[in-house]
Amino acid sequence: MRTRNLLGKQALLAAMLYLAHQRHKPEECPGNTPKHVREMSEMLSPESMSRMGLKFVDAYIDHACMVQASGPDHVCSFLLEGGSEQAVADAFKPFPVEVKSIVSWGRFAESAT
Ligand SMILES: [Zn+2]
Repeated sequence: MRTRNLLGKQALLAAMLYLAHQRHKPEECPGNTPKHVREMSEMLSPESMSRMGLKFVDAYIDHACMVQASGPDHVCSFLLEGGSEQAVADAFKPFPVEVKSIVSWGRFAESAT
């Protein structure tokens, strides 16, 4: 019984989705520096994510990054599959991120009925 629970938990963790929000001040926008954009691209590459036990699903970049807008903080959101919030946070170091475990609407709605 205990083994079955442990295996079930591992299977659930392997399929977890995480949303990482990266917030930065306009004057610190990585999009302002091609070198930083290349570093972020390398960090989010399938090979790099795989080394950290993660899978890059998609990312949504604040339009303010695209146009280098001043004013409020820029917020970018990264959707990843992985085993833990800590693993996701570690993948973005040294950039601080807020990480949330999420489920798809379909999965949530199915469980609520
Ligand atoms: Zn930005």
